[in-house]
Amino acid sequence: MPQDLAANPPTGPFASAVFDNSYARLPGRFFTRLSPSPVSGPGLIKVNRPLADLLGLDADALASEAGVQMLAGNRLPPGADPLAQVYAGHQFGGWSPQLGDGRAILLGEIVGRDGVRRDIQLKGSGRTPYSRSADGRAALGPVMREYIISEAMYALGIPTTRSLAAVTTGDAVYRESALPGAVLTRVAQSHIRVGTFQYLYSRDDAEGLRALADHVIDRHYPEAAAADQPYAAMLEAILVRQAALVAQWMLVGFIHGVMNTDNMQIAGETIDYGPCAFMDAFHPGRVYSSIDHQGRYAYGNQASIAQWNLAQLAQALLPILDESPEAAVQQAQAIVDTFPKRFEAAFTEGLRAKLGLFSAEAGDLALAQGLLTAMTKGEADFTLTFRWLANVVDGQGLALRNPRNLFNDPAVFEEWLQAWAARAQREDVAPVDRAAAMRAVNPLFIPRNHLVEEAIRAGEDRGDFGPMEALLAVLAHPFDDQPDAARYALPPTPEQVVPQTFCGT
Ligand code: AMP
Ligand code: MG
Repeated sequence: MPQDLAANPPTGPFASAVFDNSYARLPGRFFTRLSPSPVSGPGLIKVNRPLADLLGLDADALASEAGVQMLAGNRLPPGADPLAQVYAGHQFGGWSPQLGDGRAILLGEIVGRDGVRRDIQLKGSGRTPYSRSADGRAALGPVMREYIISEAMYALGIPTTRSLAAVTTGDAVYRESALPGAVLTRVAQSHIRVGTFQYLYSRDDAEGLRALADHVIDRHYPEAAAADQPYAAMLEAILVRQAALVAQWMLVGFIHGVMNTDNMQIAGETIDYGPCAFMDAFHPGRVYSSIDHQGRYAYGNQASIAQWNLAQLAQALLPILDESPEAAVQQAQAIVDTFPKRFEAAFTEGLRAKLGLFSAEAGDLALAQGLLTAMTKGEADFTLTFRWLANVVDGQGLALRNPRNLFNDPAVFEEWLQAWAARAQREDVAPVDRAAAMRAVNPLFIPRNHLVEEAIRAGEDRGDFGPMEALLAVLAHPFDDQPDAARYALPPTPEQVVPQTFCGT
């Protein structure tokens, strides 16, 4: 801790929170201790008040001069033990033996009012030993993007890292042009990734693997500790969460865009909002990322990629799964093989709910696929199609908001409607109840690319964060009809379409 802070009593933004840094107590080869690099002119963009409150932090103090200095990395909060984590990973299928927090610093961990331990990390906080040739900084646009989309995911009920705050730095970062710099304060159940295990495995560090696995069990999967084979139970529990997570993404039309193994988090939260996007018109092959030339991370590939990533995790765990290498491989394979069925179960259950079905029938997945096929053919908007289906059930607003009007080729959709109606009729559910259940799971508001882009343009070009605030306010209640916010529900006009997204680097 720097002198000035050691001398000062712990008052200010983090006064009421007690850092307890369990990762910093792991073996020193897992990370490098270092402080964020100062910036020249920190300025507040936003503090997330409900999240600050959940963490037991004083939001006003965070927004104060002293708080902003901390959020920018110019001062350390008392109790922080800053470090950069090392990891490795497969990027687009190619092995990178050494990655790590190249532009992020873990300040430490705080146990929130809900009893959950969370990492507090600054992203864009300067160079580290893992920066390779890059600058360790983040540009304002990607920071705004991550803030908006991660908080939208949270409001949609999808496990995700969150954003506690965003500040500008007063310094330029140089990408294709000079851009304003910013720092995001990211909050996560932890930042341990598939790639963290891979790093230790690739160094033949079985002792390290055991220490990391024990930490993960303790922190994220305590029930695995009681199993006959705790590490196998941990692997299975990780897989279960990932299967559910990817299903949840796909149920809202989310494309992560960069599902490298270093971007798959062990606790099962969505992490790394780089070139991600929500689809407007549905297509299973949809790709937004400017660097995903092969479509490896296309919408419809996400489940099989998740399984591939989990196979890499399983491989990294082989040295600690069983003393017998053959038995270890057998165990690992048996667990990884369960992924498709778990994913399909989660996806099917979610689709049933989106279609307002209360019971389970064997043909339900095929029925839902029929709608997706109609949407593909008709280039229909994914979000509005599902949202407006409820209008067909109870007749509300149907004159103006009929899903039929979203399809270029309504014939295929209308045929599907008949099949859906026949299926629904086999259930004794009142239309009002069915429609209400559908509106509770089919969001009206998602962070559409053009809206995110519009907010970023205002921030980047004019230093105006009003549009970001307005967008965040709408996205905080994605399932509510918000009559004043009708514009935010609309798909982009042809001129508004944002066809590509870019990495945050
Ligand atoms: P990502 O594509 O964001 O998952 O990042 C992949 C790797 O590159 C990670 O190890 C990052 O820490 C590192 N990285 C990305 N951007 C930067 C940057 N501007 N400076 C230093 N390292 C970076
Ligand atoms: Mg990453």
